[in-house]
Amino acid sequence: MSEAKKMSLTVKVLLGLVLGLITGVLINTFLAGNAFVDTWLTNGVFHMVGKMFVNALKMLVVPLVTFSLICGVCGIGDIKALGRIGTKSFGLYVLTTAIAISTAILLATIIGPGKGFKMDTVETKDVVAKEAPPVTQVFIDIIPSNPIKAFAEGEMLSIIFYAIMFGVSILLVGARARPIVDAAEMLNEVAMKMVTLVMSIAHIGVFCLIAKTFAQQGIGLLLPMASYFFTVVGALAIHLFVTLLALLFVFTRLSPMTFMKKMRNAQAFAFSTASSSATLPITLRSVSERLGVNNSVASFTVPLGATINMDGTAIMQGVATVFIANVYGIELGLGGYLTVIGMSVLASIGTAGVPGVGLIMLAMVLNQVGLPLEGIGIIMGVDRLLDMCRTAVNITGDAMVSTVVAKGENKIDYDVYRDPEAGVLDADDIHITDAEKLAHAS
Ligand code: ASP
Repeated sequence: MSEAKKMSLTVKVLLGLVLGLITGVLINTFLAGNAFVDTWLTNGVFHMVGKMFVNALKMLVVPLVTFSLICGVCGIGDIKALGRIGTKSFGLYVLTTAIAISTAILLATIIGPGKGFKMDTVETKDVVAKEAPPVTQVFIDIIPSNPIKAFAEGEMLSIIFYAIMFGVSILLVGARARPIVDAAEMLNEVAMKMVTLVMSIAHIGVFCLIAKTFAQQGIGLLLPMASYFFTVVGALAIHLFVTLLALLFVFTRLSPMTFMKKMRNAQAFAFSTASSSATLPITLRSVSERLGVNNSVASFTVPLGATINMDGTAIMQGVATVFIANVYGIELGLGGYLTVIGMSVLASIGTAGVPGVGLIMLAMVLNQVGLPLEGIGIIMGVDRLLDMCRTAVNITGDAMVSTVVAKGENKIDYDVYRDPEAGVLDADDIHITDAEKLAHAS
């Protein structure tokens, strides 16, 4: 490398994030209401580029998950092992979510956010409490009656189900299906290359997304809701830095520091997009190429986690329930809290990894314990910022479980895990010369 050390993508993305935050807060503080800035910057360039970037990420999800899952299932090569990996990851996902929500309720009970809360200091928004889908429907919908529709609409659980069935059938057909495996492997490589391409402009996308959010939200909004906001952030921090890292260390003996460093990029994406689903290509890349988890495990556990594992969301729901109960002066009692834990775990499975759904699913939890849905209107104002934070925790949980499962299956490359440079992206990852060779060869 000739120039004075190239800036790695992670540094660029973090820089985009910080600069976006500063720009957004400055606009919100000094230029609020300025029609030009509002039309041309916040709702103009920032909105457009940010949306284009998120669309580019979403565009990658369905093909990447499909090809990588087919390769993954064929890579495991053994249906029994597949069942074991599935059971282990599902069990760990449920366990971590249950721990997350318990931490949240405990912390919220100690801090007591919402006690003595003055309703008139915040703007209460009207809640459009959408009907949360019944749990039975979530399970029914896993099996797509029309796979093309499932793929077209990006229904992750159905896609995962279909791709696994497809992979298993390839295994059952045996040697004659080898060309399909080869094709899926090649397509997977191409899909991964597309991730690299989109990531090369990530810092710009992240800057625009963050600048727009903070220009519109500001941080003044936080003050009346500070106790709720910081209780959620506190519980998220405990879950991220204590629970997840401790579980990682206990189960794998791998360095939590290395894990966190290698997940930084994906966390920044999750924070900027507030969508586990849009971040999925980056999480998958970080887990397989940075942490060294074999694709046969990662391709299965990461998309599954992005869809059913929402530790951060469960934490928000736990604190929100205690907060709303406090605001309305309602005692929940032990039975109530246990119901909240159960419901939040189920809600987390049924929550799609897109911005803001956690709040809608909260309606289901509140309903179950008889708390007023209007409570959601109170916390709505600060939800976007919390959504960003909890999504970063959601995807870190997915990566942790994936690493633990891979370790148990002996499907982790320790050299890759320990190598700080492994899978780091810089401009050199796009080899124009290779492309030229291919063009000339044809
Ligand atoms: N935005 C979250 C995610 O994508 C879900 C939520 O809590 O609303 O993981």
